[in-house]
Order: sequence, then structure tokens, then C-alpha cells
Amino acid sequence: MELFWHRRDLRLADNVGLAATADRDTVVPVFVFDDDVLAHASDVRVRRLLDGLAALRDDYRDRGSDLLVAHGDPATVLPRVAEALDADRVVWNRDYSGLARRRDAGVRQALHDAGIRREAHHDSVLHTPDSIRTNAGDPYSVYTYYWRKWTDREVDPPAPTLDASDLADRSELVDTVDTLRAGDDDGLRADGDERQGVDDRPATDDHSTTDGGSATLTPGVGDLPTPAALGFAEPDAEIGPAGTDAARERLDTFLAHGVFTYDDDRDYPAREGTSRISTFMKYGEIGVREVYAATERAMAEARSDDPDTQSDSDETDGSDDSDEKGPAAHVEEFQGQLAWREFYTQVLYHNPEVVTENYKEYEEGIDWRDDPEEIAAWKRGETGYPIVDAGMRQLRQEAFMHNRVRMIVASFLTKDLLADWRHGYDHFREHLADHDTANDNGGWQWAASTGTDAQPYFRIFNPMTQGERYDPDAEYISEYVPELRGVDPEVIHGWHECSPTQRANAAPEYPAPVVDHSERREAALAMYKRARGEDPDG
Ligand SMILES: Cc1cc2nc3c(=O)[nH]c(=O)nc-3n(C[C@H](O)[C@H](O)[C@H](O)COP(=O)(O)OP(=O)(O)OC[C@H]3O[C@@H](n4cnc5c(N)ncnc54)[C@H](O)[C@@H]3O)c2cc1C
Repeated sequence: MELFWHRRDLRLADNVGLAATADRDTVVPVFVFDDDVLAHASDVRVRRLLDGLAALRDDYRDRGSDLLVAHGDPATVLPRVAEALDADRVVWNRDYSGLARRRDAGVRQALHDAGIRREAHHDSVLHTPDSIRTNAGDPYSVYTYYWRKWTDREVDPPAPTLDASDLADRSELVDTVDTLRAGDDDGLRADGDERQGVDDRPATDDHSTTDGGSATLTPGVGDLPTPAALGFAEPDAEIGPAGTDAARERLDTFLAHGVFTYDDDRDYPAREGTSRISTFMKYGEIGVREVYAATERAMAEARSDDPDTQSDSDETDGSDDSDEKGPAAHVEEFQGQLAWREFYTQVLYHNPEVVTENYKEYEEGIDWRDDPEEIAAWKRGETGYPIVDAGMRQLRQEAFMHNRVRMIVASFLTKDLLADWRHGYDHFREHLADHDTANDNGGWQWAASTGTDAQPYFRIFNPMTQGERYDPDAEYISEYVPELRGVDPEVIHGWHECSPTQRANAAPEYPAPVVDHSERREAALAMYKRARGEDPDG
């Protein structure tokens, strides 16, 4: 018997570590609520994690098995559970963040001390952070060069899905938990009313948990705590569905249509132009090899439908930047986003300090303005810049924000409000369901001109023209900013130029701009020049 430790890979399909252990022996799956990880969590992400775990547990139950759930320090919990099961080995998939690597080193040592074998696999990316380097052997800091190597590499096929015969029977897991509970195991919390705060109802379709109180958790079979039991509240945001089935449905829908026009539509937030699979990928409810294989099938379909790519694939296959892109080029553009995810993963892996520090240091340091009232208005979505406010409100409502709008609101915070990107990163971390340390940090440092391959400091988005270009009919804005519904799009995009009377007539509830973009643009240029040790007036 072997123990498989789920972390950011809540799935049975295309799971490299899980498939490797199932190939050898009977598998017992386990998830551990770890306080060190929970210390960095948020209401949104705890709710979403619980939904993902419920879906995973149901997938195990469908196969006659279940998910072992515990709460405690994994370095204590895992050896104890492995011993109780008489398991030969504990297996997991690697997580490349600094926190995860420190935790995993502790677990490895504890298992070693307990005489239990351990094995870690690469799973969450197609190409490991160490495998793509410059010719000089350094990690890449420029995406374009990274992408060229990324796209040339062979990709593994999806790992096989587990079936019932690979898994320990549910009754064995129940016996193990009884043994652990009877042993009064201090590494596993067993105090208090052990049934409070957990949900061990039979599998249901809605994958939900109930609020049963705030007791600490016992190790259990399929017992999932409520957010309250973990110290979190139910979020206000409406978070979408979780689990592998939902992820596949989302991807299939996108690959049936959206992917073939991806590069035309992806920047328009009112269109359904992107896949919206980021949250599923963050929790590992769908494997990246499965996603990639599906895009390759879409690519083959695009090529077979496109006479140009049939006659001369080099001319139109991804390298054509004209408006007349063939469908294969759109699919390739989408694959490019998967590469961005891996690019930022390797940036974080090689530079774990970027979580709190600028990747690119400025000689004199950046003297951020950091006005608390302006930052608060940004967080509330009340800056008086309609596209910015729509994005910030989408974030609160859906725990998600469209990529183009993420770029706009991040530029606005750093270059119009002159606020440190860390304020934005922390806010996104709290509210995004798809928050991923590497991608979120990469996105923020890009916008703030402090990252790898970042926007040059003098490239400053104009929030009005961005809104006008990417939401011309103000459909997206009207969806999330009800005060502006029914207002002429021209007035919306010209809000900064309206007189107080015009504003009062058009949308009395909607605020005037908190800052003047032109003035702040100049102030931002001066701030960055000073940071570079240059004359701000030069
Ligand atoms: C300030 C800022 C913060 C961001 N924070 C996050 C975050 O916490 N988590 C996150 O997954 N993405 C983040 N992104 C990247 C991007 O906005 C989201 O991945 C994307 O909006 C998710 O929607 P989608 O699944 O429809 O994307 P699609 O356009 O359909 O892309 C498919 C997948 O590719 C990956 N991807 C796409 N764009 C990027 C990108 N620029 N960088 C890295 N990976 C990308 C994601 O996994 C995404 O699901 C951030 C971008 C910015 C500018």
C-alpha cells in the first residue's frame, strides 16, 4: 500500500504522481489541512478548495474508495498515517513555491526518520522549471526566448486515470482512521466534539459542505470541514463550479469555438473570448498535459480546415501577425498562455524572494505615494474610471477578473495612484479564486515595471482609451457598474472630461475621477526616473 498526498492536484486523471503509485501498489489518497498554508489563504480560496476537495472525494467514492482528510503539520501527520496503514511509501507532486519547498523538505526528513520511502514527481507544468535554460545555462528572464524553447520541446501524453482496482477500499480507510483515533495520536488533532465542523454526507452533486461549528478536525474518511472550522468565513463572491468534470466541460466548450478566434477576442472583456480554466488549473482539477493534448487536437482540426496551413504550414502557422490569422495561429496563441504560466513558475522557482521583493531593483528604490484613501477607492471600485471600477467589482462578485482588465487595474494602481504593487497583489491574493503565487506576482511585477520582461516604466496605460478600445459599447462596464447602466457609452468613456453638472445628470451615484490621469502620468514618469537615479525633469 502507498499513500498519495494531494496538494494542488485535486484530480484522478492525468496526475503523474498518482499514476506512478497506482502502477506499483494500492493507493490511499490523503489531504492534509496545513496551518502554515492556511495562514496564507483567504475566504474565497478556502471555499473553493473545499469545493474542489468535495469533488475529488466524490470521484474516489465513485470508485469504492475515499479521501483521507487530516489537519495538522504534514511532517507529523503523514508518517503517522503511513505507519497506521503500514504503507511503504508516500508519494506527491512537486510544488515549486518557496513555502511549499520548505514544507516538503520537512516532510521528506520526517519520513526518512520514520524509515518510510518518499517520492516526488513533476506534474503541474509541461516543462520543469530547471529544464528550459538559456544556452549559457541561466534561467530565462525574457518570455519570447523562453517560449521558443518551450514550444520546441516534446510533451508527455496525459497520465492514465485511476480506476477502482488501483485504490484502497473505503472500509480499509475507515479501519485506519479508527486505529488512529483510538491511538490518541497527538500529531493528529482529536480533541473536542469530533463530529462538529465536518461534513461527511454521502456524495452529492453540489459538492458542498455544511456549517457545523468551529471544532478542530479529526482525521477522517471524506470528512471535510466547513470554512468556519478552519477559521474562515463564507465569501460573498459567487464562485463557479469545481472539479474535473466541470473543468473538462469548460475546456471542451472553449475548444469547440473560442480557441479558433482566441487572439481576436481575448482582449475584449464583454466577449466570451478566453477559456476561464485558470481556477481549475490552480487547484489542479485538470492536468496540464490533458489541456495541452486537447489544444493539439484543436490545432490539427484547425490545420485540416485551413487551406493555407495545408499548402504551406510555415507561412500561416502562428507566425502571421496580420489581422487575417488562421485558426491554427489562434490555437498557438492560446498555447502561448500556458507557456506564460510555466515561465512565471520558473521565475518564482529560481527567485523565491519575488513574492515580497521587486525582481528588478531600481538604483534609488521607488518612492511610492501609497495614499490610503486612493487605494481604498481602488479596492471598492470607486475610482471614477469606469473600466477600472468594473474590473474591481467583477473581482468582488466573481472572485475572477478578465486578463485585459487585470492589466488595466494593475497599471492604474501603480502608475495612476502611484501605489506599491504589493497592495494590489495582496488584494488580488485575497479575492481571486485563481490566485497563483507565480502568475499573480508575475502579472503585478509586469504592470509595475519591476518584473522580468516587464512593461517599460514609461509605458503607462490610459484607462479611458483602454476602456474605449476594449469595451466600446460599455457592455462589460454596465454589467458590473450598475450606476452607469443606460448611460451613453461616449459619456462613460469621456467621464473624466464631463463637467460636474453633466455627471450629475448622467449618473449621479457614480463618483468623479479620484485623480487626473494626465497629471499622474507625469508624476509616475518622474517617480520612476528618480528611482533610476535620473533627473525627473530631464
Ligand atoms: C495583475 C495580474 C494578476 C494575475 N494574477 C493571476 C493569478 O493569480 N492566477 C492566474 O492563473 N493568472 C493570473 N494572471 C494571468 C491572467 O490574467 C489569468 O491567467 C487569466 O485571466 C485567466 O483567465 P482564463 O483562464 O480565461 O485565461 P486564458 O486566456 O484562457 O488562458 C489560459 C490559461 O493560461 C494561463 N495564463 C493566461 N494568461 C496568463 C498570464 N498572463 N500569466 C500566466 N498565466 C497565464 C492561465 O493558466 C489561464 O487559465 C494575472 C494577470 C495580471 C495582469
